[in-house]
Formats: sequence, C-alpha cells, structure tokens
Amino acid sequence: MYYNELRSPAVVQTGRDILKNIDWILKDAHLYFSNKILITQQILFDEYKEQLNVNEFSEIIFIRGGETAEAVEVAGKLSGLDAILLGFGGGSVIDVVKYCATKCDIPFITIPTTLSNDSLCSSVARLTFNGRKRSYPAQGPLGILIDFGVVRHAPKKLTLAGVADVVSNLSAVKDWQLSNKNTGEPINELSLMLAKAAPAPLFKYKEKDLDSDEFLHDLATGLILSGMSMMMTGNSRGASGSEHLISHAIDEYFPDRSTIHGLQVGWAHLMVEKLCRKDNDSYKTLKKFFDNIGLLDILEDNVKWKEDEFMGLVPYAKTIRKRYTILDTL
Ligand SMILES: [Zn+2]
Repeated sequence: MYYNELRSPAVVQTGRDILKNIDWILKDAHLYFSNKILITQQILFDEYKEQLNVNEFSEIIFIRGGETAEAVEVAGKLSGLDAILLGFGGGSVIDVVKYCATKCDIPFITIPTTLSNDSLCSSVARLTFNGRKRSYPAQGPLGILIDFGVVRHAPKKLTLAGVADVVSNLSAVKDWQLSNKNTGEPINELSLMLAKAAPAPLFKYKEKDLDSDEFLHDLATGLILSGMSMMMTGNSRGASGSEHLISHAIDEYFPDRSTIHGLQVGWAHLMVEKLCRKDNDSYKTLKKFFDNIGLLDILEDNVKWKEDEFMGLVPYAKTIRKRYTILDTL
C-alpha cells in the first residue's frame, strides 16, 4: 500500500437552482438507490416545498435536529435499508443525518441551508446529550449540494460564523506546527496545506459581498477543503486548535453562556492571537478582516464573554481533549 486512502465525496455541486435538480444531479453522477430518504425540518420543507417536490423521495422524515436521543431513534428506523439519506438543513439536521448514516452504514448527501460551519463535510457529528454537546465519529458525505439561492437567505450571523470557522484554521495550523516542534507530533503536510489554503480566498471580501455568488462559492470551498483536511487525517487537527478548545470548554462548562459555534471560535481566535501567542500582527490583520466583513459587530452582540475573562477559560479548555496547543505553553 503506497497511497493514502481518502474517501472524498463522489459529487460536489454548488450554484443556483440546485434544490430542484437533486434527482438529475444524482442520476448524472450515476448514484442509484432503492430508497431516497429526505431528512429535514418541517419548517424548512414548507419553505422550499415547491423546489424539493420537483424531485421524488421514497420517504420524508421530519426531525427537530441536534439531539442524540432523536438521532438514535431515527437510526433505529433506518437500520438495514438499501437507501441514500439526503440531509437538508442546518448543522443540527446534518449532524443527525451523519450520525444515522454512520450507525446504519448508509451513504448520505448534505444539502446545507446555511454555511455556518464545516460540519457539512467532516468526520464528526456534534449532538447534544443530557444538555451537553458530544462528538461522535462519522463517515464523510457521498455528496455535497449547495444551492446559493438557499444559503443566501441564511441569517447573516450564521454565514459569518462559517467564515470564522474556516479562518480559525490559521490558528489550528499554528498549534499543529507548535506541537510538531515541541512534542514531535507528526504533521500530515497535505492535510495541513488544505487546512491553510481553505480560508485564503475569503480575506478579500467585505460586508457588502456577503450575498454574492463569488463569496458563497469561496466560503463553500473553504468549508469543504477544511472538511477534506480533516478526513485526510481522520481527526480535526488542521481545523481545530486552541480556539476550538476554548469554544468547546464554553459549551461544556458554561452552556448558559454559549452561542453559535463559529462565533465562539472567531472570538477565541482573536483572543488566542492577542493574549496567548501575543502575535500583534496576526491579531490586527484578523481584527481588521472581521471588521471589514461585519463579524466584529456580530461577535460584540452574540458572544457573552469579555476579554478579561478569557484566561479564566484556559484551564477548562485544557480538560477538553488531549491536544497540544499554545495553551499548554502558558
Ligand atoms: Zn469548527
């Protein structure tokens, strides 16, 4: 065995009018299954009924999304089926679909309604169990279909959360390189390259560009490359460093003060550059970009933590997982 095996999606399609062409896209990619099951939320189905109904589904399952208990229940119904699952929704729907697909060994396609985080193409499903977020290992998607007409309508704060999640790779990559230097942890250079390349095209955009196809395409690209970087190593090393540990610590220990994943990660990224790495150039560049794209105001309104509380979160972050980062050098 000389090559690395990488299970990449068989079909990735972005653009306009994707939703009403799902059947055609699957046929064109030679993906035929006895059962094609749409899993979504009732409210989303009602909103996009006209376009979705152009396609044929053998069954439509409505879920609330986000909870392990519901995911286990749905997986119970799907076990043993020759089917493909189509997950249409935000991260909470897609994570349930991923969990079910993995448990039942059924392929799945993600059709996100928001570009709020890299869960649309990653090997982890995040679901709530007993009020706390838990990570479950998951298989990657067979396909990713992104309809700009749909994701364009997502709330601005979700789109910007996606931007912050992709951009946080720059922090994760620094942590990986630091660990390589200080602990000898091996680096998968190709995975690192993908993680680092993912956010690069985003820095040219401003707040006025958020609705453009070009921006949405670059954001989708970033999220997918980020996911591919993770699938290459089988873990999230290139896309999740100290800034993610801080965000996970907030979810775990202070759920009442937590907010959208990407926004927490974005805030933690700024704080890590300023207070931990003390890298003033990186901090200034990041802050300027966040300001240009409208993210700074969104962080101000949504993140319930202040700069002088950040260092207090570090001991909690260190308990989250065994992953060497800048936090270990403080
Ligand atoms: Zn993330």
